[in-house]
Formats: sequence, structure tokens, C-alpha cells
Amino acid sequence: MRAVRMTAPGVLEQVEVPTPTPGPGEVLVRVGAVGACHSDLHILDSPPGLYPTPITLGHEIAGTVDTLGDGVTGWSAGERVAVYGIIGCGTCRGCLRGRENECRTVPVGGIGLSRDGGLAEHVVVPASRLLPVGDLEVTQAAPLTDAGLTPYHAIELARPALRPGTSVVVIGIGGLGHMAVQILAATTAVRIIAVDSNVAALDLATRVGAHHVVPAGPDTVDRIRELVGPAPDGADVVIDCVGVDATLTTARGVVATGGRLLLVGLGGGTLPVRPVADEPPTVPFGTSVTVPFWGTRAELQEVIALGRAGLLAADVQTFPLERAPEAYDLLRAGDIHGRAVIVP
Ligand code: NAD
Ligand code: ZN
Ligand code: ZN
Repeated sequence: MRAVRMTAPGVLEQVEVPTPTPGPGEVLVRVGAVGACHSDLHILDSPPGLYPTPITLGHEIAGTVDTLGDGVTGWSAGERVAVYGIIGCGTCRGCLRGRENECRTVPVGGIGLSRDGGLAEHVVVPASRLLPVGDLEVTQAAPLTDAGLTPYHAIELARPALRPGTSVVVIGIGGLGHMAVQILAATTAVRIIAVDSNVAALDLATRVGAHHVVPAGPDTVDRIRELVGPAPDGADVVIDCVGVDATLTTARGVVATGGRLLLVGLGGGTLPVRPVADEPPTVPFGTSVTVPFWGTRAELQEVIALGRAGLLAADVQTFPLERAPEAYDLLRAGDIHGRAVIVP
């Protein structure tokens, strides 16, 4: 079968590989669609040894059930499924509490991260990773598994703070951010303020439910402050889907006293936190900072329910498998709006 693999650090290419066979407890899935996540670019850029090579990338997968391995019941060929990409150890405190995304044994274990992923015609996954998606198109189901699930989990963590009429700032309206805006719009009555450096991303933010958009630039904090008021008031929640120094500076510059910073983007920036009564403070008193990772299986089921209810839909740009490297180049250049989805 055809697969797009990271054959060496930084090298992504289409190759021919044998179609894998599902082992006991596993299922062979015919890949219908796989989302191109910005994390794949971080993986390609990471130092040698951090991720195995060669590896088929692609951790945002939907498709149809093909062949069942020994002992698998409850699924039949042709059923449409989404793949929950995390594989926790199943026995640590995190996993026992249903939070495989906080597994204390496996640091970044997952499909397309530590074993072959979905940028191929087929992928083998443990049967326990499958969730039914009903009549959702696979190109819609795939982005739900990460671009949808990750912000959903972050928003769940901040749920008690998302009071009606309060302000939430979402920074970075790409694959994750445009889903974050929709999840907030569908499940809360907060005022949504979207920030991006790209005009097309801000247009998308407006289309999917942002109440205000602010271009990222030298006066971003001032522009947001015009909306949320001066310190020590501000945004109750800030979701940073970029995570570079500039966006972290914006995030801490607009968060309210007692507010929450959700650092979802893995851009490599630094958030200074200095516990002294500086003025202005590095972060306001009472701020909580969370670095959320992906989400839980139960949350993915809820995200799929939002999708099936028509309340959450990725803005999708599709590419055939052979154009996957080009899709990643466009993603790196900032020329993908919404989610690029590869259709093998
Ligand atoms: P994306 O490329 O689709 O979107 C990024 C968006 O941020 C783009 O719209 C871009 O214009 C905007 N942007 C870039 N720099 C900016 C700046 N300085 N100011 C304002 N906007 C800026 O990426 P994505 O797939 O949505 O992923 C976003 C980040 O989230 C990546 O770092 C990715 O690795 C990370 N991620 C984290 C998790 C997790 O579990 N924590 C899961 C998935 C992705
Ligand atoms: Zn991802
Ligand atoms: Zn575990």
C-alpha cells in the first residue's frame, strides 16, 4: 500500500509498504481521511531519536473498518469510525481515571507518534481506539479526533470559569483554533475574541462564531483591552493555540486576575511566572496555567456528538495522499485555513 512516512528526521516521502495485518485485539482500518496537524511539523523538526523513524505519520484519522484481528468483536467491515489516537498504559493513575492523555507511563504514546499512523491506505489500531461516527463524512470525522478533541478537552478543564457574559480569548485560529471557537459558541454563552496574524484566519473566525476579531501585531494587547477592560480585570480564559513568545505575552497581558491560561499550542515560547508583587505582574494574582494534552476517549465521543448535531464542523481543504508533503509545506507557510485533510 502507499504510505507517507517520515523516513529520517525532517524527511517526509511517499513510499510503498506492505499492508499491515491486525494482531490479536487489533483492527485494520481503511483510512478515509487524515488531518494534517501542526504537531506533525514539530515532529518533523524534532531532534533525531525523539520519534522513531521510519514512521507513518498522521494521528487524526477516520475511515472504515476493514479486517478484525483475533478476539475482536462488536465491529463489522464497512462501519465508519474515528480513531482515538492515544494509547495509554491502561493501569496508571491517569489511565485508571479515564485520562489516557495524562498517562504517567507512556509520555507521547500514540498512533502516528510512536507507531504507524494514518497517512496511508490502511492503519492497524487496537480495537479499543475506535469510536463509531454514524453518517458523518470521514473528512469531517478525522479533524474531530484532534483539532476538535484537543480544544474541547482544554475548554472542559476551564468549564467552571466559562460563565455567561465573560470573555474568552482564542489565539491562533488554525486547525485547533477554529474548532475552539465553535465549541465555545456551541456550549457556552461567553464572548469570544479571536486573535490571529493572518487575515483569512480572522475571516474564518468570524464565520464560525467569534464575536470580535483582533489582528496579531504590536498593539494586540491594547486592542483586546479595549474589549475586556483594563487590568486587573480582563479575559476570564485565554486559549493560546500557538504558544510562541509573542502569543504568550498577549495571553498574560489580557488575562484577568483569577483567570485561566490554557497553553495548547506547542510553539516553544516561554511564559514567565514570577511570584512577586511586580507592576505589571508577569501573570496576575490568582492566574492558573494549564498545559493540556489532547483529550480523553469520553470527550472524543462528546466531540463526535457535537459534529453529528451539526454544531462543530471543520473548514476542510482536501488533498490526495501523494500531495500530503505539499499540504504540510502549505501548513508550514501559513497557507492552510481550517484543516488540511489528506484523502488516501
Ligand atoms: P495551524 O497551523 O493550523 O494553526 C496555527 C494558527 O496560528 C494559524 O492560523 C496561524 O496564522 C496562527 N499564528 C501563528 N503564529 C501566530 C502569532 N504569532 N500570533 C497569532 N497567530 C499566529 O496549527 P494547529 O494544527 O491548529 O496547531 C496549533 C498548535 O497546537 C501547534 O503548536 C500544535 O503542535 C499544537 N497542538 C497541541 C496539542 C496538544 O495536545 N496540546 C494537540 C494538537 C496540536
Ligand atoms: Zn495533533
Ligand atoms: Zn497510563
